[in-house]
Amino acid sequence: MSKQPETDPGRPAWGFETRAIHAGAAPDALTGARNTPIHHSTSYVFDDVDHAASLFNLQTFGFIYSRLTNPTVAVLEERIASLENARAACAAGSGHAAQFLAFFTFMEPGDHFVASRYLYGGSITQFGVTFRKLGWDCSFADPLEPATFRDALKANSKAIFIESVSNPSSIIGDIETIAGIADEAGIPLIVDNTIATPCLFNPVDHGADIVIHSTTKYLNGHGNSMGGVIVESGRFDWARNDKFPALTTPDEAYHGLTFYETFGDFGFTMRARAVALRDFGPTLSPTNAFMTITGIETLPLRMERHVANASEVAAFLDAHPAVAWVSFAALPSSPSYEWKEKYMPKGCGSVFTFGLKGGYEAGTRLVENCQLLSHLANVGDTRSLVLHPASTTHRQLTEAQQIAAGAGPDVVRISVGLETVEDIIRDLDQALRAAS
Ligand SMILES: *Cc1c(COP(=O)(O)O)cnc(C)c1O
Repeated sequence: MSKQPETDPGRPAWGFETRAIHAGAAPDALTGARNTPIHHSTSYVFDDVDHAASLFNLQTFGFIYSRLTNPTVAVLEERIASLENARAACAAGSGHAAQFLAFFTFMEPGDHFVASRYLYGGSITQFGVTFRKLGWDCSFADPLEPATFRDALKANSKAIFIESVSNPSSIIGDIETIAGIADEAGIPLIVDNTIATPCLFNPVDHGADIVIHSTTKYLNGHGNSMGGVIVESGRFDWARNDKFPALTTPDEAYHGLTFYETFGDFGFTMRARAVALRDFGPTLSPTNAFMTITGIETLPLRMERHVANASEVAAFLDAHPAVAWVSFAALPSSPSYEWKEKYMPKGCGSVFTFGLKGGYEAGTRLVENCQLLSHLANVGDTRSLVLHPASTTHRQLTEAQQIAAGAGPDVVRISVGLETVEDIIRDLDQALRAAS
């Protein structure tokens, strides 16, 4: 179904709030249902044998089997691509699945990439330990010193990976400079935009070639569904060098089809779906897609309040006698403040860390004494959440790695939710007193 640009609410001419509600969706052609139906069907009837053959050959777009494509999941994919000002998207069962599918789409065994050292703890383990089993090597660099990315590049480097705002320590680097380094090297910049969300930052507008989201976080926003997505800018030229044979040489499994030549500015997404998602199978369920579509409809409203509440909570913690430091890019004392002001003037989410003067013991006591705030391993929920990374999400890392990732023994991570901000502050105040 192709709509006229001026009536297609996925187009950039429409405002972000409009696209958050309408992009990718239309009233159901059969029933008139206004909300997106949850299509719980594994498979779709072919018109005839020729139709089936052309679908399997990737000559016709349509639904075959829900491991690959599903009408409810497709609405989510189109909506996120629109919100990210990007060309196409492919959803996955979780953020980590999206990361794996993204790398699998262009990496060969023996390849290397450079990642920021300020990453979600699970990503440091995925890249630094598990990916090595596939023959993918990763070096870590410092986004506050962009030249360290150039220094870490090798002849076999195939990508640079950063988080636009790091989870948990709220580090923002000079994204455009890092994009320039990737461009010079002829490799894509991949940006995990989970914490900023497309509401506060669009990586594609600042040189990113691929954007990753854990939709589990703010995009869903209610802590009820895992999910992930790979987003393609459509601007990376995979044929500018010979580094990406997976996209630029014929695929035997598709009768010699070459993904980049055939699909151009969405060739990466096509290969992510038709090879990586097909053969590994970490598919997003239609119900999770529906929950996430519903969440995204209120994303702009929610992010505004997350940002406002986080600003008050950070100011309270910054002035608290039991708190040694606060690491939040929205505070003028942050080394990332300059880049936050440049790239994310509306705010940088509500996830940040603070250090307790009482160290590891005080950190564990604080999370145990919170009553309103939930002690759990998630961020970007309506509820305010606290976590002591050194004893949980980052416990697989060595202490040196923990400190390098901004998750040392004294560190507490907070994800400020949407409750009455005075209540959040009151709960933290009593827990800090009990902890020190
Ligand atoms: C949670 C998270 C991930 C992993 O996503 P899952 O949905 O938990 O698999 C990746 N990156 C960031 C920044 C995250 O916060």
